[in-house]
Amino acid sequence: MAILDGIDVLVSEVGPRDGLQSIAPVMPTAAKKVWIDALVAAGVREIEVGSFVPAHILPQLADTGEIVAHARQHEGLHVAVLVPNAKGAEAAIAAGAHKITLPFSASETHSLKNLRRTHAQVYEQVEIIAERLRLLPAESRPQFEGAISTAFGCTLEGAIPDDAILRIAGHLMALGCDEVGLSDTTGYANPAQVKRLVRAVHAEIGAAKMTGLHLHNTRGLGLANVVAGLEAGIRTFDSSQGGLGGCPFAPGASGNIVTEDLVFMLEAMGLRTGIDLDCLLVARETLARALPDEPLYGFLPDAGAPLGFVPAG
Ligand code: ZN
Repeated sequence: MAILDGIDVLVSEVGPRDGLQSIAPVMPTAAKKVWIDALVAAGVREIEVGSFVPAHILPQLADTGEIVAHARQHEGLHVAVLVPNAKGAEAAIAAGAHKITLPFSASETHSLKNLRRTHAQVYEQVEIIAERLRLLPAESRPQFEGAISTAFGCTLEGAIPDDAILRIAGHLMALGCDEVGLSDTTGYANPAQVKRLVRAVHAEIGAAKMTGLHLHNTRGLGLANVVAGLEAGIRTFDSSQGGLGGCPFAPGASGNIVTEDLVFMLEAMGLRTGIDLDCLLVARETLARALPDEPLYGFLPDAGAPLGFVPAG
């Protein structure tokens, strides 16, 4: 079954990676498995389950190999991981991930601070990974995405010119990425900018090569940006259950856009996600039980669905 069969929009759950890496407590491996199982039971088709970074940097994700192995037992689930470099990609291949995402920070200052690498050095890693992947038989070759982070602005450099994003997107594709994604790492994006930049990237590399957006809700524009993305032809959105992780700079704001609210909005708009809202709320309970001291965000879980609400699918 192709991942988009029978649905209109792919909601890619990134809570087990983006959410968990942003909080201090380490979720026990067993609890992660229960949460992932509950997400799959709700109909989630793609989950970014972790990141292959050294355990001393992100102890929260030190069990990513075991989590990938567990997630792979779910028939049809697309198991995604983040990797910072070729070494991480090697671990992802060994674990059997279906999708490898390498973050490329559009802001070189941010890149130096976060990955300790210049743009040229990250491009070199992309090239090594692409060459390595080409050696694998097609049926076991993970999909390789270059995710352009700080694409809508950077806390260190401020605005990033659209031209810079287009150059990076073109270069990532030329070096062998299968596709490019845009990430609003800082929650700076606004709907007009999302539409403009998505259209520009589509014109540069082709619409089929840029299908996903990774949005944060730092300034409350997350779902507005989703609608702008939909209007520009985007069909995959990253979100995290309960907006896990929050935003350290904006108390009260979720981290990633909230999966529950995203699914509700899409289904209410007549767009099928394949996800059952009631089951998604059951998955949220497993998350809340595993991390009792972490605030979980979202409006739908508190307010409930409107009377007479009929999901799209
Ligand atoms: Zn993020």
